[in-house]
Amino acid sequence: MPSEKAKENKALVAVCVACEKSFSTEVMVSLTGRDNGRPRQYPVCVACADKGWRPPGFTGVYRSRPT
Ligand SMILES: [Zn+2]
Repeated sequence: MPSEKAKENKALVAVCVACEKSFSTEVMVSLTGRDNGRPRQYPVCVACADKGWRPPGFTGVYRSRPT
């Protein structure tokens, strides 16, 4: 059974809305789209963003983060 401390040390992960896989938040970007007319943040992995995936209603400009 993992201790509370081990849980805290675990890297934060989020699910990419494009490919539905879990990634460390370090390799994800948040793109602003629209959901029912309201702004919403869509977490996507850098791989999907680089492939051109954009959330519905996306109006911003995505630039790859320097790594
Ligand atoms: Zn993805």
